[in-house]
Amino acid sequence: MKAHLVTMGCPKNLVDSEASLSLLREAGCTSTDDPERADILIVSACSFLDSAWQETLDEVHRLSEVKAAGEGKKLILMGCLPKHREENLRQLLPFVDRFVPAGGQATLPAIVREWGGAAPAAVDPVEDRFAGFEERILLTPSHTAYVKIAEGCSRKCTFCAIPRIRGRMVSRPVASIVRELENLMGQGVKEVSLLAQDITSYNSEGHRFADLVGAIAETGIEWIRIFYLHPGSLSLELARRLFEYPAVCRYLEAPVQHASDRVLKRMRRPYTRARLRRLFEGLRAEFPDLRVRSEVIVGFPGETDEDFDELKSFLRVTEFASLGVFSYSPESNTPAAVMNGRVERHLVEERVAELNDLQESISFGLLNRELGNRHRILVDRKLGDDASYPEGFAYSGRYYGQAYEVDGEVYLRG
Ligand code: SF4
Repeated sequence: MKAHLVTMGCPKNLVDSEASLSLLREAGCTSTDDPERADILIVSACSFLDSAWQETLDEVHRLSEVKAAGEGKKLILMGCLPKHREENLRQLLPFVDRFVPAGGQATLPAIVREWGGAAPAAVDPVEDRFAGFEERILLTPSHTAYVKIAEGCSRKCTFCAIPRIRGRMVSRPVASIVRELENLMGQGVKEVSLLAQDITSYNSEGHRFADLVGAIAETGIEWIRIFYLHPGSLSLELARRLFEYPAVCRYLEAPVQHASDRVLKRMRRPYTRARLRRLFEGLRAEFPDLRVRSEVIVGFPGETDEDFDELKSFLRVTEFASLGVFSYSPESNTPAAVMNGRVERHLVEERVAELNDLQESISFGLLNRELGNRHRILVDRKLGDDASYPEGFAYSGRYYGQAYEVDGEVYLRG
């Protein structure tokens, strides 16, 4: 049998897709890029965000046409499927043969064997959310990989549907993550990006996040990059422990979401603007070469002009190396979705544009300060004759302050 898998959404979903491919291979099912040659068509989707839902539907409809045009093809929809849509998924998408929720990839081998003619297997919802992780088939270039160290989230941010969809946080055992690292290094991986919904809360049998990073560093991997550090738990002390290991890039991603105390409180983010200022000033003073990426949500219900001005002045002073600016989107069944004080769409768009302009000038200023510095570059690819790249450059890559496909590139001559 052959499977064609389309993966959408964030790197955490990408890891689930990579694990799914590995489990399918174990069940004797190879993968193909050509949906027409596939027996099984899979959409691995991030559809919990209302805004991503339409994109998922479009992809499922596209593959349903391929299914209809072929003989005996099957279609699976898996990933972050929102609970509130579960009841009507079957009615809405009757041509989908199986729905596999996030973390349920361990059910795939039984499904495939059954479709291959084996006796029908009872497919129970499987608890093993990390099935297939250690032997993943990489969908990223062979020198870089994401490593998911935990699943779910036990916090209660009012805008976020993740805890309802992915459940409470469960951390993977250190030994399993280290085995995965060793496999990845055997495949040529030089850089790993550690992921979780709330990475600072990692705790497996008493091993906390810094212990895990120590065990990962011991494998000899060249670059360790860390994402999703909750600013409520990130501290100078934690940073000191992490940076004891030379392999840990002086790059941290810590999504602040906002910097007005009033908005932070309504978001149920357990920190204040003053704490954020102290945290980032302390980090900058002690690690001047640290590059911090952050994320903010603009237009959260009740956000006033004053709140927005506070956010802007915080960003001006803090000078993040890069910033993701998201407009607030009300997610069904979250506390924020029913809060009053909806901010008008045109105002949200203006604020997003304003922050993007501000960040562009901050990033430009920081990059200018790199002039004359020497950096080690991880080469991602050869540029060839692609006219979209500046003339005279042969390769593109990244220095430690740039995450793969997130923070831009460095071009190399010769
Ligand atoms: S925003 Fe992050 S920390 Fe907050 S509930 Fe969602 S996943 Fe958890």
